[in-house]
Amino acid sequence: MPIIDLTGGRLTEEQRQTLASELGKRSAALPCPRCANPYFTIMDGVHNLGLSGGVGYRDFGAIPAAVTICNRCGFIALHALTVLTGER
Ligand SMILES: [Zn+2]
Repeated sequence: MPIIDLTGGRLTEEQRQTLASELGKRSAALPCPRCANPYFTIMDGVHNLGLSGGVGYRDFGAIPAAVTICNRCGFIALHALTVLTGER
């Protein structure tokens, strides 16, 4: 899955579905650690975590991460796309 190839800077619905599936396969779709709500949203944008020294994923100088938000309390979690997609 070419997860880094964002359409218009956003994840497509298909990519979000794939990420949800991958999170489930990795037992990373447990209820919210703050409020125990079982429902969350995968945002259609990606958060790029900058690292000192320009270290990151390929030439980006950052780690692209999927952002999930609890639908009840708003707790935010990040998941490295390189791990979820198998890209290194
Ligand atoms: Zn919550």
